[in-house]
Amino acid sequence: MERRTIPFGKPIIGAEERAAVNAVLAGTTFVHGPRVEEFEGAFAAFVGAKHAIAVSSCTTALHLAYLALGIGSGDEVIVPAQTHVATAFAVEYVGARPVFVDAESQTGNLDLDAAERAITPRTRAFSLVHYLGMPVDMDRVHAIADRHELAVVEDCALAIGTRFRGRHAGTCGDIGCFSFYPVKHMTTAEGGMVTTDDDVLAARIRQQRAFGLDKTVTERAVPGIYNVTMLGYNYRMNELEAAIGAVQLTRVPGFLAARQRNDAALRATLVRIPGVSLLETSHGNFESSRYCCVVLLSDALAPRRFEIVAALKERGVGTSVYYPHPVPHLTYFREKYGHHLNAFPNAVRISNHGIALPVGPHLTTDDMAYIAAAMEEAIVTVSASHAATVAV
Ligand SMILES: *Cc1c(COP(=O)(O)O)cnc(C)c1O
Repeated sequence: MERRTIPFGKPIIGAEERAAVNAVLAGTTFVHGPRVEEFEGAFAAFVGAKHAIAVSSCTTALHLAYLALGIGSGDEVIVPAQTHVATAFAVEYVGARPVFVDAESQTGNLDLDAAERAITPRTRAFSLVHYLGMPVDMDRVHAIADRHELAVVEDCALAIGTRFRGRHAGTCGDIGCFSFYPVKHMTTAEGGMVTTDDDVLAARIRQQRAFGLDKTVTERAVPGIYNVTMLGYNYRMNELEAAIGAVQLTRVPGFLAARQRNDAALRATLVRIPGVSLLETSHGNFESSRYCCVVLLSDALAPRRFEIVAALKERGVGTSVYYPHPVPHLTYFREKYGHHLNAFPNAVRISNHGIALPVGPHLTTDDMAYIAAAMEEAIVTVSASHAATVAV
């Protein structure tokens, strides 16, 4: 097969995004403008939330979420061990303690039985991550959260298009936080969004994202006159980013359809390769946004993982690892909380056995056939060289 170049992720930016950015640059309104409001309205409608508040990243969205919920020093938040470090950092920013809980082996999502066992009188909230776009069982989450009076924050960084029982991620808990980082489901170059149905939380998040000022630019009777009633931040999204986002959002249905097509094609071939299994994706009421396709290597193949990754790279196939280490094993958290290294066996297994393969809308079903063939070849080569080594 002719060699291809298949990047793991690639933002898709067209003439419309360029024109939208140029239109902003042609004027003088770069912040506090109409494009952020338009993008917020369109995003709220897309996910079915009452409020959408545009911010500078998913990380700042998460920070604002915990601030708005009044979570702070002395409080605990249940955080999945298997996630992006930002999920846990946001809890640290407000001075609360992340209590890490292992993943389910089949999906990588938070193990909800283990999560319920980790609840203490200090627990205030659940931090949920729809792992690589696979929805968490929100019915079970609500049952537990109601029993223990916990708030629910959804980290939806990879969950644009994720639905549980038809409801879009980010509208199932108290607050949802989205990312528009370049290789996620849609981009604003860099950016994020907070969603909520709660008017009080929404007002607090809007105020705190912009220095905590008591009046917005348009509300000020005398320009420049305002007061502050709370510690504020500068976590706004600007007009250039919002202009890109509004166009990207119109492309999302097409992006998601391409992901679904690619993921289905890739899985259909990969399941036939011996020595690998796949993390579960959509089934029944669980509709994944299909960020990538994770191959889990068998115990025999796992020690050869980086050779397989190198063989794929040689064939032009970009891969990634989600995530390289469970968060509590990262030095900052280990030094602070000193968790036992074997406390998160499923998260460790996903970190150490997984290879994430691309299924993004920058790729075709032909590319999927190429990736599957490259994977099969890589495993055969590595297994053969392993057998030869053993024989010597
Ligand atoms: C990417 C990611 C984040 C961070 O998003 P930014 O917009 O880069 O701040 C947080 N959580 C998860 C699960 C992510 O994948």
